[in-house]
Amino acid sequence: MNENFCIIPFMVLNCRPNGTLKTCSQAEGAHPIEGFNLNTDSVEDFWNCDWMRDFRRRKIRGERIPQCEGCKRTEESGGGSKRQGYLSKYYEKYKHRIREDGYVEEMPAWWEFRLSSVCNSACRICTPKNSTLIEKEHTKHFEVMPKYDKGQLKGCSKKQLGDGGNFLNEFWKHVDQIDAIELHGGEPLIDDNVITTLQQLVDTGHASRMHVHVHSNINKVDEYVVSLLNQFKSGWFGASIDAYGEENEFLRWPSKWKTVDHNFRSLKLHPQWSKSIMAAITVYQCLSMWKFLDWFLEFQDDCEIFFYTVHSPDRFGLEMIDLDTRLLAAEELETYKPIMHYRHHTKLDNLINNLRSTRTPLKKEYKGFIEYNDALDKIRNQDSFKLFPHIREIYETGSTKIHS
Ligand code: SF4
Repeated sequence: MNENFCIIPFMVLNCRPNGTLKTCSQAEGAHPIEGFNLNTDSVEDFWNCDWMRDFRRRKIRGERIPQCEGCKRTEESGGGSKRQGYLSKYYEKYKHRIREDGYVEEMPAWWEFRLSSVCNSACRICTPKNSTLIEKEHTKHFEVMPKYDKGQLKGCSKKQLGDGGNFLNEFWKHVDQIDAIELHGGEPLIDDNVITTLQQLVDTGHASRMHVHVHSNINKVDEYVVSLLNQFKSGWFGASIDAYGEENEFLRWPSKWKTVDHNFRSLKLHPQWSKSIMAAITVYQCLSMWKFLDWFLEFQDDCEIFFYTVHSPDRFGLEMIDLDTRLLAAEELETYKPIMHYRHHTKLDNLINNLRSTRTPLKKEYKGFIEYNDALDKIRNQDSFKLFPHIREIYETGSTKIHS
């Protein structure tokens, strides 16, 4: 098998809340695939369209495709990519779907469920397309938002996949061929359409044979939802927590650490479930991840942790912080290895390697960060300098670069 091959386009249906389609949630800077929207089009028509068949053929040939660079970068920095993870888990099960002409006879086996962008968080790294709270905030403060963010508002759609339309009809039409669903949002656990669908899958008996992936900010996890999840055959629960305490409250505004901590501790799922923490790393908290690791150590026996640095949009790059400062932070993290289980080391190495990156950031990254940080601090009445004093350096270096 070639080093760029990926099983995802042969098994996963990936859609956005507004009905547009991508090949993968990792697809970097990729525009939606033209000509299709699941608010109106059938999955059959999309699944073997010319674009998808061509993409699969390129994967079979081993081409290095720009939108898959996120996986390559992770692999080259010593981390485990989504591509590798899916190959090791699902290649044997779905390899019969691989045909030289890129046609896949069976329908997608794994459906990403992004029924809406309804969300109770407005995370610094997120966009209005993925959070109604951000959409509302950026619309209200449109005048002070940077140009990039004004542009992001244009893609938001009132018509969302969960709004009683084509997507759910398609889902039920193909349900017998579906092995897994992956709940994304927005925040899927507060979306009534998601909860109703989970209940229907339980009632119709499909849940007992299905796997479910949940991506949640765990701001709200009630007992009823947990009881539904526990009726699925197996599952993976990814809690999006980026930092410890008030740093997480800042990054995943307006979440409350007390609630996040309580919900994570209280989450009781049956033994065929696994739990992970998914931490998005940015310039803000990358130097103080030791605080987060101190908290994580309590859960390390039965929980995984993944660190992914945010590349899109490109305004949170760790490299904007002085290399010597980052190297010190990396050394600090090295001291956690003797007290962390060996199986977590590769993930920690991924974070450490990113801190040690020698890439030179572009002028536009500084500009993008400063404009966005200023706008959000003002709108949210937050003081990013107080919590993350090191970002002052980005302003100083940035002002020289921007005016050079
Ligand atoms: S190689 Fe990575 S980005 Fe590309 S489709 Fe596979 S998992 Fe997604």
